Amino acid sequence: MTRVGIPRALLFYYYYPMWKAFFTEIGVEIVVSPPTNKRILEEGLKAALDEACLPVKLYFGHVLALVGKVDYLFVPRIISAEQKAYICPKFMGLPDMLRARLRDLPPIIDIPLDLRRPENTLDDFLKEVGHVFTRDRYLIKRAIEAAHRADQRFQELLVKGYLVPEVIEDLQGSGSSRKGVAQNWRPLKIGLLGHPYNIYDPFISMDLIGKLHRMAADVITGDNLPSAVIDEQTRFLPKRLFWSLSRKLVGAALKFFESENLDGVIYLTSFACGPESLVSELVTRWAKKNSSLPFMLLTVDEHTGEAGMVTRLEAFIEMIRWRKRNEDHLSAYGKLVHRY
Ligand code: SF4
Repeated sequence: MTRVGIPRALLFYYYYPMWKAFFTEIGVEIVVSPPTNKRILEEGLKAALDEACLPVKLYFGHVLALVGKVDYLFVPRIISAEQKAYICPKFMGLPDMLRARLRDLPPIIDIPLDLRRPENTLDDFLKEVGHVFTRDRYLIKRAIEAAHRADQRFQELLVKGYLVPEVIEDLQGSGSSRKGVAQNWRPLKIGLLGHPYNIYDPFISMDLIGKLHRMAADVITGDNLPSAVIDEQTRFLPKRLFWSLSRKLVGAALKFFESENLDGVIYLTSFACGPESLVSELVTRWAKKNSSLPFMLLTVDEHTGEAGMVTRLEAFIEMIRWRKRNEDHLSAYGKLVHRY
């Protein structure tokens, strides 16, 4: 059976359920690179260009982990994932960066996904991918339908409160997403902001979600909010954010900051990200000016030590607990919070 390699990095965390359903229906075996580990990161750091952001460097490591094990690498050239918006240009250049820096790669399936204009559809993209393996139109049609069903199910589970890794683990048979619905028993609730490939990769995030759970805090991310909520929150921004990931992040931040059910917000960002240098500043200013919730910005790079992160996290959670006990009427930034 033909084997297609999918790196466990970047938009894997959004598209895997759809890709898995599609390729499985086509009759292709999917090989996903292993969860990030020290070796994968180090290989990526060595292979990628110095100027790249941490998630792109890591992507190189995941590609290298698949070389020699697959017949194709699936690295779609993602230009835009929705109308009137772009994904960061790094996604567009990924196939070229890989070819320029790595030798002896299997053939790369780098079909462009560009949904900026209504005449370009996801179905057209999937049809083109299907044609790499078969000319059977009915098989491709069935695979496209399976992909849509899987994506719809994925979105429904997220809105119900499952976290992305739980759904993916479930699909891979390595866990049970049923754990996700049990999220409401812990005494604290934290809104977690960040790009999916940072917050959901336990190595890069140093298992931030697991640590919060062990500190008795439930976690909600922007992916648990329906897209209508993100649209509503970002509608009144003075200027439309045309980067999809940034728009989602800002929409989630605005929703979290006005929430009465959250105890704090953490924003995890990674080093050398162009869009986040702007967005993290915007979100931090918003948190200070318009929200009474405790807010913490964590930036990780390839040298970040776990001890420092644990210390900051423990202090943050302890401060929230203390505040809940003693100063629930005060804003984290010194303003009086009116509760009627
Ligand atoms: S959005 Fe930032 S972190 Fe993501 S690929 Fe682009 S530069 Fe890298």
